[in-house]
Amino acid sequence: MNDCLFCKIVRGEIPSRKVHEDDLVFAFHDIRPARPMHLLVVPKRHITSLMTVSGDDEPVLGRMLAVANQLAEEHGSPDGFRVIINNGRIGGQEVPHLHAHVVGGPEPVGPMLGKI
Ligand code: AMP
Ligand code: ZN
Repeated sequence: MNDCLFCKIVRGEIPSRKVHEDDLVFAFHDIRPARPMHLLVVPKRHITSLMTVSGDDEPVLGRMLAVANQLAEEHGSPDGFRVIINNGRIGGQEVPHLHAHVVGGPEPVGPMLGKI
């Protein structure tokens, strides 16, 4: 057991609005949505960020992106979406468990190099 926030969400110890779970990844609504659709897709096994991935992690990284497309279609962003992964201090990562922000909605998301 560990104290990681997103590990606790994956284990169901902290509630989330889950939208997807399979053998590799877990996805849920961001608690502070920056756009009409704002989901987070995380590996079920703890990975801190893209700075710590190994070759063994490639299947889960692929699954995160494949699931992003499926979820965008299902959750109100069928005409495209944006995926953002913040890494480490320079990337502005706040939760140290790898997560892909999947953002979209009915309108283009616009410029988004700022903090999401
Ligand atoms: P980042 O800055 O890339 O680490 O993003 C962390 C994201 O996690 C932010 O968009 C937060 O709104 C989101 N977040 C933090 N706590 C929770 C939570 N308990 N449930 C869902 N999303 C969360
Ligand atoms: Zn974790």
